[in-house]
Amino acid sequence: MKIVLASGNKGKIAEFKKLMPNDDVVAFKELIGEFEVEEDRDTFQGNAVKKAEEIYAKIEVQNPDENILVISDDSGITVPKINNEPGVYSARYAGENANDKENNTKLISKLKENDLKQTPAYYTACIAIVYKNQTYTVHGWMHGDVIDKEIGEGGFGYDPMFIPNGFDKTLGELPHEIKKEFSHRSKALKLAKKVLDVIL
Ligand code: IMP
Repeated sequence: MKIVLASGNKGKIAEFKKLMPNDDVVAFKELIGEFEVEEDRDTFQGNAVKKAEEIYAKIEVQNPDENILVISDDSGITVPKINNEPGVYSARYAGENANDKENNTKLISKLKENDLKQTPAYYTACIAIVYKNQTYTVHGWMHGDVIDKEIGEGGFGYDPMFIPNGFDKTLGELPHEIKKEFSHRSKALKLAKKVLDVIL
């Protein structure tokens, strides 16, 4: 059986491969080439399911005899005090092709507009698994605060603005091991592993 990852992100592919060291894990592009799935749902779960189901359907048409399982994920950060922004728009908060720096600058200006120096926020990761025409989803969350400035160079995305609960430094400053232990993605991956143990 082939495990197909509905992601082009090298970091995510490496994480999933570590999760399933004994399986034949491939990125979807290796099977069907370039294929764009529009992330137009209003929840992380909606987008993760859409990606996994569309890629599953496409592979099934092109390789009807192949026994496949597709895994996708969608993630982002939510700040309740500013109308739950950026949420599912985290990757493109400052525009369609915005980079991390531009997204962080937009979040900082939103916080300042609302006189928020530090306010609760949380990261969400949803993982969707499609196997034998059934769809399964799991979630992981990491709670903390966002601050109106970037501190530290570590992590990626909103990490230099995010202080996890129980710490007094941002994920930009804290060692990577801490994030690996508590992150939304790690928690969702652990649950995904349990699903795979049951369905495979
Ligand atoms: P995705 O690749 O569509 O799941 O988009 C995820 C976006 O959410 C990224 O571009 C980041 O802006 C943000 N994000 C998700 N997880 C993290 C994280 O662990 N640290 C920092 N930013 C994250």
